[in-house]
Amino acid sequence: MDVEQLIGWDSLLHDEERLVRSSVRRFVQEKCMPRIVADYEAGRFAVELIPELAQMGLLGANLEGYGCAGMGALAWGLACHELESCDSGLRSFVSVQTSLAMFAIWKFGSEAQKQKWLPEMAAGRVIGCFGLTEPEHGSDPGGMETKAQKDGAGWILSGRKLWITNAQFANIAVVWARGPEGIAGFIVERERAGFSSGDIPHKLSMRASATGALYLDGVRVPDENRLPGAQGLKAPLSCLDNARFGVSWGVLGAARACLEIAISYTCDRKQFGVPVASKQLVQAELADVASEVVKASLLCVHFARLKEQGKLDPVQTSLLKRNNCRIALDAARRCRALLGANGVAGDFHVMRHAANLESTFTYEGTDQIHTLSIGRALTGHAAF
Ligand SMILES: Cc1cc2nc3c(=O)[nH]c(=O)nc-3n(C[C@H](O)[C@H](O)[C@H](O)COP(=O)(O)OP(=O)(O)OC[C@H]3O[C@@H](n4cnc5c(N)ncnc54)[C@H](O)[C@@H]3O)c2cc1C
Repeated sequence: MDVEQLIGWDSLLHDEERLVRSSVRRFVQEKCMPRIVADYEAGRFAVELIPELAQMGLLGANLEGYGCAGMGALAWGLACHELESCDSGLRSFVSVQTSLAMFAIWKFGSEAQKQKWLPEMAAGRVIGCFGLTEPEHGSDPGGMETKAQKDGAGWILSGRKLWITNAQFANIAVVWARGPEGIAGFIVERERAGFSSGDIPHKLSMRASATGALYLDGVRVPDENRLPGAQGLKAPLSCLDNARFGVSWGVLGAARACLEIAISYTCDRKQFGVPVASKQLVQAELADVASEVVKASLLCVHFARLKEQGKLDPVQTSLLKRNNCRIALDAARRCRALLGANGVAGDFHVMRHAANLESTFTYEGTDQIHTLSIGRALTGHAAF
């Protein structure tokens, strides 16, 4: 029996969802897996894959209109799951483009902004990033120091954003800044004077993803670049809530890949004259990991159906993100150990997943911050 049969989710999926899963899986096997080890070692994101990701309708996939595919929540989740079975960085690229940059414009933008940017972003001709985190403000973005000052009919943006996915090659950045009436969002084109980006050197996780800094040195933007519907911190937080759903599905793709590799490896690897998979201690590890992956996968399906009905509360997404990132990281570490020394070799993929999953544990709200969100929902007391 394979891991997916153990999850038993085939009977829970609609035809369109199975189709999304099989087409993304084929793309991942044919185009992404053959290059991922080299890309990871080189520390580069494979920009060459962008046109095909767009052709498959994966950029802005879960948004309606403006050239986007309008996928349901479950189909979108499966797409994230398959992409991350290759690498969390690949899924992060699609997540940031779709659930952060495009979603911010789709939800809070003017009609003119949507018409101008979303079709180009869905086609992969314009790439976006999402600048919220700053050097001194991560879990507490409400303390942000980036400023938006009124300047006649426009704005002047000044500040620095750090740990920004796609920063180095994004054509536009959705930047959050403190204005006279609170936190506001702006679309900033790369060509604007005073805008630049930089690398984060020596990154040891998500190496096949571009993560960088944004510098805003008195960048002038017209008022038509401000997102008119975004008022206050709840605007970027709602984008993060949307993105966390995809993260929660994605990390289980990485966990499933690690488990499948560990099963195959331990069945092949002989010690003491027999496959190590014939040992009870090894089977106990596999059974533990499989149980957690199955439970988390079924929670994903349940919450996806709630999301499709518009009934998924943000705290449920917090719970899903926290739970699944914990499980996936634990699964990757335990599978890594089951491969012995080969577990730290790039060709076996598991160590790469484990290193990536350290980032997913931290980004889109750390494990602790989601713990506090759940605690607040349960008790009514905010312990942040
Ligand atoms: C690979 C990668 C990609 C990223 N991409 C993006 C992106 O595209 N856009 C973007 O804006 N950001 C991005 N981030 C940033 C990410 O969202 C932040 O790293 C995250 O929010 C945590 O902030 P921090 O790193 O400043 O940690 P801090 O907030 O400094 O936290 C440090 C530690 O303190 C804990 N802590 C903080 N507050 C509390 C509290 N009240 N109670 C208990 N514990 C607490 C945290 O859980 C953590 O363990 C990315 C990060 C990574 C690693």
